[in-house]
Amino acid sequence: MHEFSTMQSIVNAVLEEAKKHNAKEISKVILQIGELTFLGKEQLKFAFDILKEGTIMEKAELVIEDVKAKIKCNYCGYEGGVEYGLKDEFHIYFPILKCPNCGKNVEIVKGRECNIKSVEMEIEDATIKR
Ligand SMILES: [Zn+2]
Repeated sequence: MHEFSTMQSIVNAVLEEAKKHNAKEISKVILQIGELTFLGKEQLKFAFDILKEGTIMEKAELVIEDVKAKIKCNYCGYEGGVEYGLKDEFHIYFPILKCPNCGKNVEIVKGRECNIKSVEMEIEDATIKR
């Protein structure tokens, strides 16, 4: 389960950060997840709920922000969202990484993010944001 291992490293990174600040509790974690990571939000939330058990982020709320994919063509200058094609034999959608104008391969500008945007934690009596 891809989401589970991804969330495992996110949770580890957040706890590591919290330790550096001597945080006693983590109240909120905001993630940015790109469209092209194909990570399921529900699965991420499910993994988060399991992984936070027994840690200082047990009561933390998880917020996932979507990052829309953006591609750029270095030949004709096209910039835009990603279109999807359907592979009939598998019944799955896949992103078309070719320029709709000139057909050349495009560069992915956005959409592969899997970032921790911010963490809210409580340090003694103060709440800090970073
Ligand atoms: Zn082009």
